[in-house]
Amino acid sequence: AKQLGPGKYRFFIADMNRRNAEQQRLEQSLRRALENGGIEVHYQPKVRLVDGHIVGLEALVRWTDAERGVVPPGHFIPLAERTGLIVQLGERVLETALRQLARLHHLGHDDLHVAVNLAALQFQQPNLVERIDGLIHASGVPAAALELEITETTMMRDIDHAIAVMTRLRERGSHVTIDDFGTGYSSLEYLKRFPIDGLKIDQSFVRDLASDANDAAIVSAIIAMARTLQLEVVAEGVETAAQWDYLRRHGCQLAQGYYFSKPLPADELELLLQQNAPG
Ligand code: C2E
Ligand code: CA
Ligand code: CA
Ligand code: CA
Repeated sequence: AKQLGPGKYRFFIADMNRRNAEQQRLEQSLRRALENGGIEVHYQPKVRLVDGHIVGLEALVRWTDAERGVVPPGHFIPLAERTGLIVQLGERVLETALRQLARLHHLGHDDLHVAVNLAALQFQQPNLVERIDGLIHASGVPAAALELEITETTMMRDIDHAIAVMTRLRERGSHVTIDDFGTGYSSLEYLKRFPIDGLKIDQSFVRDLASDANDAAIVSAIIAMARTLQLEVVAEGVETAAQWDYLRRHGCQLAQGYYFSKPLPADELELLLQQNAPG
C-alpha cells in the first residue's frame, strides 16, 4: 500500500466518507425515482447502412432527478449494479420498452424490434426468463420483437449458465446480441459456442476508423468474421459520414450513432419513424 503521512491519511478517510455519503444519497434518490417517477426510457434507432431504414431500437434508461438534473447512466448504472437496484431498474426498462413498442406496432411500425440491455446481476436472476415471458405476454408484442444485449464480460462470468439462459431466450424467438464486442475476453472459440444472433462492434473501435489504420483493420476483421459465422453486425457510435461509408463498404449491415440519430424520447421517435417509413 501507498505510504501516507498521518495528515494525508486523515484527508484520505475524510474524502472516502464524503464519497460514500454521496453514493448513499444517490442510491436513496434512485430508489425514490423508481417509486415516484423520474425514470424514463429513450430509444436510439438501429439503421440499415445501405438505405437508412430504421429496423430496430435500443432502449436506454434515462433518469432526471429534481436536484441533480439529468444523471448520466454511467453514474448510476454501476451504483445500481452494486446495490442490486439494477434488477428493479432493468425490469422497469423492459416493461416500458415493450409497452412503447406495442404502441409503435399498433401505429403500423410492426416490423420494428427493441433491444434491451441486460446487466450481469439481472442475468444471474434464476427467474429471469420467466419474468421476461411475463412482460412479453403482458405487452402483447411477439417474443421475436425483443432483443437482449449482453456484454462479453457478463457472458464470461459463468459460461454454462449464460449458454443455458441464451438458449431459452432464443427458443422463444427473442434475439441475443453481444454488446461492446471487442472490449472483453471472448475469443473466436466462444463466439462459435455461444447461441447468439449478432454482435455490436464497440464504439471505441468505430471512433477512430478514419484516422487509425489498426482500428479500421479490427473493424473490417470483425465484420468479415461475423458474416462468416452468419451473425448480424451492428456498428455503435457512428458519428460521421466517413465512418458510415467505411462500414457500408466493408459489409456491415447495421449502425447506431449520432450521425443518424441520438437516443430519443418515445414521442420524438414516433415522428422520426413516420418520416422514415418507405412509400
Ligand atoms: P451501451 O449499451 O453501449 O449503449 C450505447 C451508449 O452510447 C449510450 O450511452 C448511447 O447514448 C451512446 N451513443 C449512441 N450513439 C453514440 C455516438 O454516436 N457517439 C457517442 N459518443 N455515444 C453514442 P448511454 O445512454 O449514456 O448509456 C451508457 C451505458 O449505460 C450503456 O452503454 C449501457 O452499458 C448502460 N445502460 C444504459 N441504459 C441501460 C439499461 O437500461 N440497462 C442496463 N443494464 N444498462 C444500461
Ligand atoms: Ca447496449
Ligand atoms: Ca455497446
Ligand atoms: Ca458500453
